[in-house]
Amino acid sequence: MFGLPRTGQSSRVEPPSRGIDPAGVRPEGGGPGSPVPAPTRVIRLDDILAKVRAYAPDADLDLVKRAYVFGERAHSGQLRHSGEPYFTHPMAVADILADLQLDIDSIAVALMHDTVEDTGATLDEIGRYFGPDIAEMVDGVTKLSKLDYRSAEEHQAENFRKMILAMAKDIRVILVKLADRTHNMRTLEHMREVKQRRIAQETLDIYAPIANRLGIQSLKVELENLAFRYLHPEQYEKIAAALGSRQAEHERLIRHSRELLVQRLAPHHPGCAVSGRLKHLYSIYRKMLEKRLEVDDVSDLVAVRILVEDVASCYGALGVVHSLWPPISERFKDYIARPKATGYQSLHTTVIAEGGGRIEVQIRTHEMHAFAEYGIAAHWRYKEGHLALTPEEIEKFTKLRQLLQWAEQIPDSREFLDTIKVDLFADEVYVYTPKGEVRWFPKGATPLDFAYSIHTDLGHRCVGAKVNGRLVNLAYSLESGETVHIQTSASQKPSRDWLKMAVTSRARQKIRQYLQAEEKEKARELGRGVLERELKRYDVSLGRVTKDGTLEKVAGDLKVGAVHDLFLKVGYGRLDPERVVQALVPDERRVPKEQAQEQEARGLQALIRSLQRKRAGSPVRIDGTDNMLVLFAKCCRPLPGDPVVGYISRGRGVVVHSSDCSQALQADPERRLDVEWAKNTDTLHPVQIRVVTLDQPGVLANLTHAIGKLKINISKADVRTTHDQRGIITFEVLVKDVAQLVIVQNSLEALKGVISVQRVRGGS
Ligand code: MN
Repeated sequence: MFGLPRTGQSSRVEPPSRGIDPAGVRPEGGGPGSPVPAPTRVIRLDDILAKVRAYAPDADLDLVKRAYVFGERAHSGQLRHSGEPYFTHPMAVADILADLQLDIDSIAVALMHDTVEDTGATLDEIGRYFGPDIAEMVDGVTKLSKLDYRSAEEHQAENFRKMILAMAKDIRVILVKLADRTHNMRTLEHMREVKQRRIAQETLDIYAPIANRLGIQSLKVELENLAFRYLHPEQYEKIAAALGSRQAEHERLIRHSRELLVQRLAPHHPGCAVSGRLKHLYSIYRKMLEKRLEVDDVSDLVAVRILVEDVASCYGALGVVHSLWPPISERFKDYIARPKATGYQSLHTTVIAEGGGRIEVQIRTHEMHAFAEYGIAAHWRYKEGHLALTPEEIEKFTKLRQLLQWAEQIPDSREFLDTIKVDLFADEVYVYTPKGEVRWFPKGATPLDFAYSIHTDLGHRCVGAKVNGRLVNLAYSLESGETVHIQTSASQKPSRDWLKMAVTSRARQKIRQYLQAEEKEKARELGRGVLERELKRYDVSLGRVTKDGTLEKVAGDLKVGAVHDLFLKVGYGRLDPERVVQALVPDERRVPKEQAQEQEARGLQALIRSLQRKRAGSPVRIDGTDNMLVLFAKCCRPLPGDPVVGYISRGRGVVVHSSDCSQALQADPERRLDVEWAKNTDTLHPVQIRVVTLDQPGVLANLTHAIGKLKINISKADVRTTHDQRGIITFEVLVKDVAQLVIVQNSLEALKGVISVQRVRGGS
């Protein structure tokens, strides 16, 4: 995925300072025993250099040393609130970035990030000594520091996060800013309480979500826990204490499940790594709020992580986990098949361990894990002296950086974010509702997908959309960043064509449900009409036998269910209306009365009128896919594309003829029903073609080969030889429509030895 180091051990991909204690029970981001990370330790230049050297042996450490000297001099004499020399802060920020294994440019910038704002140093100087790129990054961090959340014109956190993303020319600027905030949070105890709360709130609103959006779990978790501690100290202590009291129990559960997993996994998945941990405090707190639970009622405090070599092993390991402990099925999430919008990939499952305790298990590859921990930062990491990027990734991220540079010229931060998102998540589009909410769709989604995502009825009535104020039709492909306003009409309803336009499974399912219901209704109506007409011939009123329960009894005797099922079965052609007539009309009466003919004609007209009215004057659409009583006449075998006409036949529903068919011309015009082909159906229709050839060896083989090459199936073939040495071969092939038939005809005509090719009308 990202070409990150893979050693088969998780140690390489864990940030050293935040490594997960394999058997330990420290919650992520500081545990009950140590609610705040270790007291500020003095970081020396050599510590940072050693860290960088370990992951980037070829890096130009001189740059870091020079930045150190510059920053140290600039801040000399300044103190932090804690009383320590100010420069301990830039050093700590550089150290956090070294833990993220960032490139030396970022580390150099970290060492100088506060110089322009807080000291006499100027950007010009930095540009002179370190080059324009570094100066630009320092400038970026300085500008971000001047952004004031409190005075932001729009007080919405989301807008402010966008502004921050928009202002940075280089994503690394944001990474430096996140590390800066992380260290400030670690040392927040030295601030006044009012300031503590404000900074903690801002961290929770702005910086933790940015870390999350950039996919850097390690920073996100730490920022959340620290902010939580200052915003809700009592809750924090309560949870920490509760966890502390159950420490032995958790420790046992983690150790036991870890041993069991290693024992089962190791033989089949060399290079797998299993670690256990407690969930982080803020995530426990959020779950308590969400589910209105007390801390003692939160059952899944323990999480186990399995790292394996490849995707196949992820699913293999999942099988092992589920064979050891029963899973809670609704908690299973496959983020490998469907990654989160941040690119996060993993399998999540929750299982019930021995004794009833729950364990959340995350399974992913080492690479996915590195991406989960470092997120976007992973793209600037070194691998043996080089950036850990493939050429494609370099291209992608060069483009991203360019986008970030353009961003400065884009006054609207939303527009900026739109550009970034388009690039990072190319297979998805996101659009805004009129209220400004964001919705994600697979690429190619249309207004229909959007409408159905909001409400089924909105989908059913959708006639198009206004996209950024411009009217578009149903087939329009939505583009990221567009604002979509669905247009509806009360007379609109779904049609089969819609299935070609909708791409989301939700929309397609809703359309299909509607069409099925509609088709059933049509079939039911047809069945009722057919029965009504048949019964009228014997002077039996369908209305009366329905009302007095006779028909219900007949339906029962015929074992078709209720009366409406009986109509449906007749409409679908699964029940011969004659059987119903037999049950309702005594044998001696089953000779049509004199006036029956006349009545029938009237009844027929009424049926046709009602069928046509239902379709608002439009012809009855036929596509051969619905099982409605539609038959294609054997005499002319019409194909989609042929002009057609329908005739209502006694007890057989609608028979569709070619409009030039001689039999159709002879039929009773009273029974005529306008029909038309549905668009774009894939139903195959049998059609016969007669090929006259010279009687030569190999001709038949050539013909079948030519048809096969067009991927068309032959359902029948008949070969005769005439006395004048000609071969007459009749094929029955299955085609979609006339156009496809013409292709077949043309390719056969082109063959050597073929004299003529003709479509055969009329049965054989
Ligand atoms: Mn700072």
